[in-house]
Amino acid sequence: MVVPAKMECGRLAPTPTGFLHIGHAATFSVAHRRARERGSRLVLRIEDLDPQRCKNEFAQAAIEDLQWLGLDWDGGPVFQSARRELYLAAWKKLRDGGWLYPSTVSRREIPSLAPHGEEPVFPIELRGETREAAGFENPEGVNWRFRVPDGETVSFTDGNFGAVRKTALVDFGDFVVWNRDGVPAYELAVVVDDAAMGVTEVVRGADLLTSTARQILVHRALGSAPPAWFHCPLAVDAQGRRLAKRTAGLSIRELRAAGKSPRDVLEMAASAAAHSSLA
Ligand code: GLU
Repeated sequence: MVVPAKMECGRLAPTPTGFLHIGHAATFSVAHRRARERGSRLVLRIEDLDPQRCKNEFAQAAIEDLQWLGLDWDGGPVFQSARRELYLAAWKKLRDGGWLYPSTVSRREIPSLAPHGEEPVFPIELRGETREAAGFENPEGVNWRFRVPDGETVSFTDGNFGAVRKTALVDFGDFVVWNRDGVPAYELAVVVDDAAMGVTEVVRGADLLTSTARQILVHRALGSAPPAWFHCPLAVDAQGRRLAKRTAGLSIRELRAAGKSPRDVLEMAASAAAHSSLA
């Protein structure tokens, strides 16, 4: 009997905290091209977990901007805000597997962001006890951190950057999977969704390379197979400054209002990505 190959699947995963800009166009056009070249499915997932920062207005604008750019998809939009039960089931599985601990450490006790913008390594002396997890029926009220395997190097092959190695407690520390305010964290939701939606290749910005190592550990703990990874260089201006930091005048809708065509915007995006020092 011939077993059909598993259908490949990519995804577009905007977080609706603002309007999409040139940097998004750069990454999403690569994701779109890679999916279409191989005939894989492409799903649109709106990462709107944080009710404080995400707005439906931005989600609707992202959908409209992607359509205007001609970056179409086959499944979704899927809204993470509607999938809490799935994340809760994953939290329970991780809790029962001894991977998590409740953490009452306040933000003030944690070193502030490193200069390059990466999350600081959570100090090991602030680590909690995984056995304390047993007393919790639900995740509310405290932060939940994933206890990383001390000193383990997580290696993966990135489709763009090649061999990547990130070492636990050196490059990243225990990370939050569920926030004290009741919101599931990015690192958990992405892994649950990529597995549940059958995503076989993740295409996203190079600022998430360290997150990939965290997510590989979460996949392992949940018993799901990690997808393939393709990280795009971050879009920068001609002076090499990251566009994500200064988007005035560079949102897709502003460019559209200024008379640019979808093709103009995609060309600008490709050239902003090509300037990147990470290219
Ligand atoms: N939602 C994230 C963003 O807009 C991307 C996350 C991902 O692709 O895993 O930056």
